[in-house]
Amino acid sequence: MQAKLQINTSTNWNKGKNGPLIISGPCSAESPEQLLQTSNMLAKTNKVDVLRAGIWKPRTRPNAFEGIGSEALNWLVETGKETQLKTSTEVATPNHVELALKAGIDYLWIGARTTTNPFSVQAIADALQGVDIPVFVKNPINPDLNLWIGALERINNAGIDKLGAIHRGFSTFHQEYRNAPLWEIPLQLKTLFPEVSIINDPSHISGKRDSLYDVAQKAMDLNMDGLMIESHLDPDNAWSDSNQQVTPSAFLELLNAIQFRSAESSSLTYNSQLEELRSKIDQVDNELFSKIGERMNLTKEIGHYKKINGVTPFQLDRWKEIIETRQPYAISQGLSKEFTEKVLQILHDESIKLQSAILNPKK
Ligand code: PEP
Ligand code: MN
Repeated sequence: MQAKLQINTSTNWNKGKNGPLIISGPCSAESPEQLLQTSNMLAKTNKVDVLRAGIWKPRTRPNAFEGIGSEALNWLVETGKETQLKTSTEVATPNHVELALKAGIDYLWIGARTTTNPFSVQAIADALQGVDIPVFVKNPINPDLNLWIGALERINNAGIDKLGAIHRGFSTFHQEYRNAPLWEIPLQLKTLFPEVSIINDPSHISGKRDSLYDVAQKAMDLNMDGLMIESHLDPDNAWSDSNQQVTPSAFLELLNAIQFRSAESSSLTYNSQLEELRSKIDQVDNELFSKIGERMNLTKEIGHYKKINGVTPFQLDRWKEIIETRQPYAISQGLSKEFTEKVLQILHDESIKLQSAILNPKK
């Protein structure tokens, strides 16, 4: 079932002053001074549209700092007034929603752990019924696109039309990232719901400062609609997520280093060159697929011989030979070893599937 989301595209709630919506601020509000000083420095960069600060922190382990709680809501609202920036925070229960709305927070987001639980999301949606406030839904911690979509639908069904998504990566037993980006999942969301803005959160994907740039640049190159980056005036002594937070000046450096390219260009020369090259690519793709078809037909022919002779579809020696003999040629054509391996794997898997269907026809 593919429903449509009703998204407000007529106001600028999801736009930044320079294009992408930029959200920044500490992982957690720690004290009025920490919040105000960090935010004043952020405001001076002139790069931030919305301040963020966690008031209630869903921590994985019980002895970690779990947030100041409702007392910090007013610090955030006051900081917003002082810096003339919008404010945002995470809500995980109907009570959080009620308190955040009463305090006058401008944007809400639903955290990754909450998105995994439809009961919690529905309870938040019920508390938002009839309220006009922008809400962002972070991806669930597990790589389940439907769970993400389901949460967006629940919030949208409550009448929230200023609705966006935040891509913060997925929990896997993986070393490279704190949360693996699995870019194909937000891209699939964008394909299904092009009207939904997707904000990338490089901080929770990277888990450390030195890979923020690569993740943020990639997100911008994939035409994502904004960035949420954690910043703190003294990141090393932050009470939560200290490894991934950056100072406001490092935040400014980071934003200055990112190339914000546009999805299109109005240059006539560029567009005509693009069209010419694309038509060549169309031709090459056709040739590729006719060759792949030819290869699969040969595979099927072999399948019939194997059937008559009682031979299995998979032969380890032949597979090794394919890899060994094809790779040097592919590499000489400028292709990488890794890419060649992937292509061969896909071709070989399909060949085995076709031959198995011949050897074991459905009864
Ligand atoms: C956060 O934004 O600080 C946070 C807790 O994020 P997530 O829900 O992505 O873990
Ligand atoms: Mn955090």
